[in-house]
Amino acid sequence: MINQLLCIGSVAFDSIETPFGKVNKTLGGSATYFSLASSIFYPTSVIAVVGDDFNPPSASRRSGFDVFKKHKIDISGVKKHKGKTFHWSGKYHFDMNTRDTLKTELGVFANFKPKLNESHKNAKFIFLGNIQPKLQLEVLNQITKPKLIGLDTMNFWIETARKDLLEVIKQIDLLIINDAEARQLTNEHNLLKSAKKILPLMHNNYTFVRPHKSVIRKNPILIIKQGEHGLMLFQGKNIFNLPGFPLEDVVDPTGAGDSFAGALMGYLAKTNDLSWENLKKACLIGSMVASFNVEGMGIKNLTNLNHKKINNRLQIFKKQFS
Ligand code: AMP
Repeated sequence: MINQLLCIGSVAFDSIETPFGKVNKTLGGSATYFSLASSIFYPTSVIAVVGDDFNPPSASRRSGFDVFKKHKIDISGVKKHKGKTFHWSGKYHFDMNTRDTLKTELGVFANFKPKLNESHKNAKFIFLGNIQPKLQLEVLNQITKPKLIGLDTMNFWIETARKDLLEVIKQIDLLIINDAEARQLTNEHNLLKSAKKILPLMHNNYTFVRPHKSVIRKNPILIIKQGEHGLMLFQGKNIFNLPGFPLEDVVDPTGAGDSFAGALMGYLAKTNDLSWENLKKACLIGSMVASFNVEGMGIKNLTNLNHKKINNRLQIFKKQFS
């Protein structure tokens, strides 16, 4: 079966400190969280690079390619180069909604030039996960038959690569960012006003022609995540406001955004349905998966998640509306 869901993003070592725990150089990265979540729903391929410190033979820590293989994630597009694996380090404040990035060390990502194989080029669902916008563009330029191109980014890239980022935003169908990033991107405090400024940035008012002249969907989609408070989905004049799943024990919010995006894109790829109703459903599924992710440290909870657990939580969540 040809994998139709392709994701580029970081495969990283993360050092995380929360008020409830601390881990050093554990496997993380936007593409890791994304693919672990998306592969629950649909076969996923990852494009990334790691250093020669990845999967060290004597390491006792969880790292390396085994996790991906166990989840049947296609890592033929993950290259190993001489140098250091991307390393991110972050510390969460007591409210767990805010965090400080202590380190972003690009390592081998700094000089990475992704080259897609034929099967990857033909992917229909593409997610440009959080990584340098220049790399996101390089992947975008090689894609030939996209049905839906999603994008995630973060404050680091809005600050350091805004021009490139706006170039990517022009060419995508779905943007997933958090509230602080939406405010930072538009200089607008109110999220409805911010959304009104972001949507026209996408598709350059529909006049942009992608390389390969691939289909450009009208009606770009925007999702603004609000951490524990849920999210807002926008398309044209439609707005959907989804509360977060109430949790007592949030252990580590790292990867909440990526696992949300992974489950959402995986569900959309599986159902192959981009109607407004199905987009809302995909947001619900994404939100349930992200809620499991934040209840464990690092990627732990994503590695043993399944449809049964997700559906049970979905039923509990839906009860509050009946
Ligand atoms: P999230 O909590 O959803 O924002 O995702 C956190 C993940 O993103 C961590 O596993 C990091 O390794 C990764 N990450 C952090 N900063 C960056 C960055 N500037 N570019 C790409 N990935 C990043």
